Amino acid sequence: MFTEILIDESVLDLDMVKQIRELLRAVPARIISEQESLHRLRGYHSGSRDLPSAKRTLLITRNRGKFFKRLENPDAVFDPDRARSYRFELFQGCPMDCRYCFCQSYLQCQHTVIHANLDDARDEWIQDTQMSICVTGDISDSLCLAETSVPVYRKLENLFSSVMWELRTKLPFPHSWDLSPSRFLLGWSLGPAHSISVNEPGTATLNRRLADISRMLELGYTCRIRLDPIQPAGGDYQGYRQLFQSMKRLFRGNTPDMFILGSYKFSPDLLETVRNRFPGSSLIREEWTRSADGKLRPFRSVRLAAYRQVISLIKRFFPGVSVRLSMEPQWVWDVLDLCDSNI
Ligand code: SF4
Repeated sequence: MFTEILIDESVLDLDMVKQIRELLRAVPARIISEQESLHRLRGYHSGSRDLPSAKRTLLITRNRGKFFKRLENPDAVFDPDRARSYRFELFQGCPMDCRYCFCQSYLQCQHTVIHANLDDARDEWIQDTQMSICVTGDISDSLCLAETSVPVYRKLENLFSSVMWELRTKLPFPHSWDLSPSRFLLGWSLGPAHSISVNEPGTATLNRRLADISRMLELGYTCRIRLDPIQPAGGDYQGYRQLFQSMKRLFRGNTPDMFILGSYKFSPDLLETVRNRFPGSSLIREEWTRSADGKLRPFRSVRLAAYRQVISLIKRFFPGVSVRLSMEPQWVWDVLDLCDSNI
């Protein structure tokens, strides 16, 4: 997954760094100065402009700001998921290259970054006992270190006794995962197999994700399914129907605790980046409309049709399981007759 590791000299002696180096010993590692580390974090490094290759460099460094940050953005559309959660600044970026990933235009640093000075987060945490759910996969994928993620989460589990860690992933779940189901809320992004292979190259296949969810449900973990981004126009209704049939069969009577639906949302910058990087992508041929928060989303009628189709599948295959929307204004909740509770 990684072709190179850069280690900020200021974290070289941390146990976490030694552990990561040991687990990734096959990957060439280089120690860099704090100054070079900062330079790269600010996106100024003059090396490769080839983003997919730059993303496969793992930069192990120190978080010089806060670790715990409220997910809710008062200027953005209300999102119940975000209102109740914190983001924990563990990772930034990811070695994958999903076509629609907002990190392409949001993050300055081209590399995948891990902040290894986790002990420094303890003082922050003690000051605020409200930090009950902390998300690690908001500006990254929670499992971007693959099997090496396990000791990192073990450290977090031990450091913060009352935090529920919410993982969000599209990557294969580590086989060696042995952490407590009471401390980890697991979320997978799913979509029809075709859209995964076209828009999320390098991530886990649909079959692998479904097998992982099935295994973790069986082990007693709370699992959430994110159907986000939903395909515009619900054009792949057949793909969604097959997806729900597969979930029903493979989950063997176990159910996810929630479905979270969201649509594509692009800032104008991100859409421009996608146009430049992936001129053949079907994404840029869609029609977009500007929402009140400045983001471009599929047309209202197209979005609502897609949500309605998928909600009808949820009702049919998983009746009673909660449905939420991600980053949609209140009128969409109202039109779909959703109220942040069971349908
Ligand atoms: S897995 Fe997530 S963070 Fe990584 S490229 Fe895809 S959308 Fe972005």
